[in-house]
Amino acid sequence: MLLFSKAAVTWRERKCRLTRQPVAVMGPTLIYILIVATPLAYCYPGAFQNQSKLDKNRTSIKFLVVGDWGGEPHAPYVTAVEKATAHEMGKIAEQMGADFVLAVGDNFYYNGVESVDSPRFKETFESVFTAKSLHIPWYVIAGNHDHRGNVKAEIEYSTKSHRWKFPSYYYELNFNIPNTGKTLTIIMLDTIMLCGNSDDFADEIPRGPLNELEANRQLVWLQERLALSKADFLLVAGHYPVWSVSKHGPTQCLLERLRPLLIKYKATSYLCGHDHNLQYIEESDIGYVVSGAGNFLDPNVNHWNDVPKGSVKFFTGQASTMGGFVHAEVTKNEMIVTFYQSKGTSLYRTVLSQRNFE
Ligand SMILES: [Zn+2]
Repeated sequence: MLLFSKAAVTWRERKCRLTRQPVAVMGPTLIYILIVATPLAYCYPGAFQNQSKLDKNRTSIKFLVVGDWGGEPHAPYVTAVEKATAHEMGKIAEQMGADFVLAVGDNFYYNGVESVDSPRFKETFESVFTAKSLHIPWYVIAGNHDHRGNVKAEIEYSTKSHRWKFPSYYYELNFNIPNTGKTLTIIMLDTIMLCGNSDDFADEIPRGPLNELEANRQLVWLQERLALSKADFLLVAGHYPVWSVSKHGPTQCLLERLRPLLIKYKATSYLCGHDHNLQYIEESDIGYVVSGAGNFLDPNVNHWNDVPKGSVKFFTGQASTMGGFVHAEVTKNEMIVTFYQSKGTSLYRTVLSQRNFE
């Protein structure tokens, strides 16, 4: 099993706080970014995690990706789709194997949580994803609905749950792929800090960052991590999509700020949620995965013509699927991505190559 060291997280948070304090009094934006970005990178030392000794014969890393799974704000705090998705995730993790889960935001509908003592952690998370196979690390980021509440409380919940791992608004995960000499890096972003919040039920697009300096700081950090990465597989995850054919469509802010970096630094894939369906879009040699079907389903494809022609390889948002999620396996040479519907059975599979630096 892969474990995120609690000691490391504590150290990182302390270090981050220390580096953030003096910057509040800094002057012009550029100086702020230059001074802040460098020390902040040390908040994320990027140590590679190894498999435990029990996994001597393993030659891959496996994980699930689920988004927009956050139940509802009144009893029973869980939807039928979330329940079905949790059940199927447990089954697939058991059958296919899963070392961890990536939870890509909108963890608690509709207004996040108020405090670390919120009953929602139990009602919408712990009591729903009960399968033994899902008692693995859940690496969490916030969505727009989480940002309507207290994201810091979600981060703090990492100290209360053995599986909830949310060390900071944005962070980096590094893994050695066992017995292969290959590596996997996953960069977890806060795209709401980067692009602003939005009322998605009012069909609103992100309004622009609340704090432009924080947004720039994250962007500088991201660029630095991408530029330094020699990982054989480099994934970036955020809540808002770069490309989407559904209700919200492509996120202009991410098309401008993130997509050029993904291309320049040869990212393998971008993983997200926000639109309530499953999508696979391939463009400029990057696999764009939308996995936002953990709680609601939306068959809407009104932005079909707003993505590059021929780039959409797979889409489903039918209510009959009962929800869905993604299973990924990263091996010595490739990343196998499989989209599952919560009703059972896989719907689509694609294979991505490792990064080529030549
Ligand atoms: Zn969302």
